[in-house]
Amino acid sequence: MIEMAPTADGTFGMGFAGDTFNTAWYARRLAGPEIEVAYLSAVGDDAPSERMRSFMEEAGVAPKLAIRKGKSVGLYMISLHDGERSFSYWRSASAARTLADDLNDLPDLEDGDIAFFSGITLAILPVQGQARLLSTLANARDRGVTIAFDPNLRPRLWPDDRTMCESIMRAAEVSDIALPSFEDEQGFFGDEDVSATADRYSDAGVSLVIVKDGPGPVLVRESARQELVSVEPASKIVDTTAAGDSFNAGFLVGMMNGLPAAEATREGCALARKVIGARGALVDI
Ligand code: ADP
Repeated sequence: MIEMAPTADGTFGMGFAGDTFNTAWYARRLAGPEIEVAYLSAVGDDAPSERMRSFMEEAGVAPKLAIRKGKSVGLYMISLHDGERSFSYWRSASAARTLADDLNDLPDLEDGDIAFFSGITLAILPVQGQARLLSTLANARDRGVTIAFDPNLRPRLWPDDRTMCESIMRAAEVSDIALPSFEDEQGFFGDEDVSATADRYSDAGVSLVIVKDGPGPVLVRESARQELVSVEPASKIVDTTAAGDSFNAGFLVGMMNGLPAAEATREGCALARKVIGARGALVDI
């Protein structure tokens, strides 16, 4: 999405961000040249869409963007009131909502690659698009692609909480790795503790569940084994935007590099800790 962020002189600075894109951006920063990071979505055919593509290219993230005539990209604006940030969104006409319209396959992905998506990816799609995305991911999984999913619960993007929870668990069924955040999951699924969150995703067939919990230890559940990885407290917290997104990037790059899940989790924590120490979603690390 386009991000409009307030500046000191009362105007707005334009940038680009969004949950899965933030993860791709940080993954590109962390990974060596042997790992390709690409971003699949849809944009319009206007100037902001073209700028978004250029931004991705300049960041080293390969754009895999369908172009939809007459459409544009989504936008959000940050407002500051006494240091508190609030967000307003314009995304109803966003081309990204059509990203699955003609999705049949993920031909660029092979055995050993990771495909990452989130509950926001799913939430913005029409019901048919959701089904198409999940069946495309399931086919890629059959070819040996690892499917990673951050549920990223955003009730305002769904018709109601029940639809959200059902759709999230359908997405879990096609996923090998789930990266939920406990606070959100507890609120909507009523999980008693991080272990209950891990149980729910394990029961859906997810073989590796990583439950984030803000400054609390991260639960790593791999098949029958479980480990708690402690989080080094941040010395200063400036802005927690993209804490989870950057964690995901550190973790996924760690996995691509062949680290055990607990080690990859430490990579995620180290990156997120740096990101919350500075302002904005995309922090120059
Ligand atoms: P989300 O942004 O998805 O809500 P969380 O709040 O669960 O994500 O945090 C994601 C990760 O960010 C945590 O697992 C942890 O590694 C890191 N993190 C969050 N808050 C802190 C903190 N206060 N100190 C250090 N690390 C933190």
